[in-house]
Amino acid sequence: MHQLRWHALLKQWVVFSTDRQNRPQMPVNWCPFDPGSGKVPEHYDVYLYPNDFPGFSPLADPFDPSAQPGLFDTTGPRGACDVILYSPEHTLPPSKLTVENWRKVIDLWTQRTREHSLNPDIALVAVFENCGEAVGVTMPHPHGQIYAMPFLSPIVEKEVAAANGYAEDHNGACIFCDLLCQELEQQVRIVAANEHFVAFVPYAARFPAEMAIYARRHIRTLLDFTEEEKAGLAAIMSVVRKKYDNLYGFLLPLMMAVKQAPLKDASAHYHFHVQFLPLQRSETKLKYLATIETGYGTFLADTAPEEMAKKLRACSPKTEED
Ligand SMILES: [Zn+2]
Ligand SMILES: [Zn+2]
Repeated sequence: MHQLRWHALLKQWVVFSTDRQNRPQMPVNWCPFDPGSGKVPEHYDVYLYPNDFPGFSPLADPFDPSAQPGLFDTTGPRGACDVILYSPEHTLPPSKLTVENWRKVIDLWTQRTREHSLNPDIALVAVFENCGEAVGVTMPHPHGQIYAMPFLSPIVEKEVAAANGYAEDHNGACIFCDLLCQELEQQVRIVAANEHFVAFVPYAARFPAEMAIYARRHIRTLLDFTEEEKAGLAAIMSVVRKKYDNLYGFLLPLMMAVKQAPLKDASAHYHFHVQFLPLQRSETKLKYLATIETGYGTFLADTAPEEMAKKLRACSPKTEED
């Protein structure tokens, strides 16, 4: 079964891809992402690897955007899912990637976003990374993913609605630009910054040690970046990941979402940013999304964002090799 089913109460699509359950057990000590596996080139720096068990696929039935979802509706998950290999080195944590390496990863994200922007089936390019066993990643090989989706994900849809509403009430102003401007005035939640990007703990952070990286300039997608901005994003990504792994002295389990504007809706107000959602709430404890978060959608946080920002500011932006 490979289809989208409409969740009539939450008004969102759920992706069913049941053959994922039949994923083969991989031999011990064998990694498909390693040079020599036969699945990737013998030599690469970064590499785009089509997902073997995609939730969204170019071969799936097309998504019907005109469908008026009822109680039991279904449509096709046409799209694409790719794995982005950050490095050929199996055990290299993302915090040890060089700035030049991050730059190559960003170039690959951009190239794939450009390709999808020309595909009429794709509404949103979701670039992301799950990192660490606590997020269910058993493969240490440094990698992220790109989902090209035929609809706007519910959270992006909500953010666009908030940004559109804000613009309407504030003479067309961007809610993200205004948030960043006030964060820079207040300073207390800022963690790191360079000429083009600012990393801060959001005022209402939902996850422990949550951070956001906002572009200083009002840019909507990776396709709007200048060369200097690409270099600036690579530099701040490196700083943020090093700080994270220095926070408790080990690889911090986290989710990273690189968020861009809807591809085909030029009127949608949006602003490029990266979200980091870590799952470690102390040196020894993990944050679990339990009933109040998952069943009700309300988050409880146990560290003040201003305190966490202070801790993260104090964390070294270097690893021992630097
Ligand atoms: Zn590997
Ligand atoms: Zn903006």
